Amino acid sequence: MGAGYFMANAVDKREGPLSLHRAIWTHYNGPIKDGYVIHHIDENKTNNDISNLQMMTRSDHCALHSNSEESLAKSSSNFTNMWKDRIRYPMICEQCKKEYTTPFPDRSKFCCTGCRSKAYRIRRDNK
Ligand SMILES: [Zn+2]
Ligand SMILES: [Zn+2]
Repeated sequence: MGAGYFMANAVDKREGPLSLHRAIWTHYNGPIKDGYVIHHIDENKTNNDISNLQMMTRSDHCALHSNSEESLAKSSSNFTNMWKDRIRYPMICEQCKKEYTTPFPDRSKFCCTGCRSKAYRIRRDNK
């Protein structure tokens, strides 16, 4: 993350840190059409030189970055499902003994941050 990424954030918060190249493209060539993305020709995302940028449709871009569109679609839907349908494990809160669920059973001990800080406070006071 260099200064370029900071600038990119300032340019367009919605598009995230990768939008610097979009800003550069817009500067030289005018607005990016709907459904189009700016591709880094040499695949080096830090090389935002205008000669390294190319406008193409989103699907062309996807195809370019994956061996097949099918495999990309698969991996990206797996990725979303991983978060959306993440298994939640039933746990008992160590502080209030209430049942709750968490996707991180090995890291989680309390139902809420309130219980966690309460428990830590008690622990500290008992020392
Ligand atoms: Zn690309
Ligand atoms: Zn609790």
